[in-house]
Amino acid sequence: MSMNVDETCIFCRIVSGELECDRLYEDDAVLAFRDIQPKAPVHGLIIPKRHVATLDHFDDDDAQLLGRLMLVAREIAAAHRLEGYRVAMNVNRLGGQVVFHAHLHLLGGRQMSGLG
Ligand code: AMP
Repeated sequence: MSMNVDETCIFCRIVSGELECDRLYEDDAVLAFRDIQPKAPVHGLIIPKRHVATLDHFDDDDAQLLGRLMLVAREIAAAHRLEGYRVAMNVNRLGGQVVFHAHLHLLGGRQMSGLG
């Protein structure tokens, strides 16, 4: 698989093993690990291994990869026996994105309330 890498990207450095993470899931295309500043008892980040900066940068033929990210979120939620959980993606600065390697947040283990 061709792997697009940005050496300045913190999540690419986690994918390469240069930086440590608390791994939750891994396959050939997807990595999930715990958020370093958790906002819930379970707070995972699910990322494509390939560097894709934001949702806006995925190609049309990445539909399967995007679907995998969601299924991995569901799998981690099930593994943690989360009865309810939230899956969210921040897109661009105005959308609250800080790390420009696209990722899903999986939040669970507490009552979720409004988006904001
Ligand atoms: P976002 O605001 O959607 O870009 O979220 C980026 C998330 O990445 C934040 O919740 C950070 O706490 C998290 N984060 C940043 N650096 C690391 C890291 N080295 N390991 C795990 N999570 C990280």
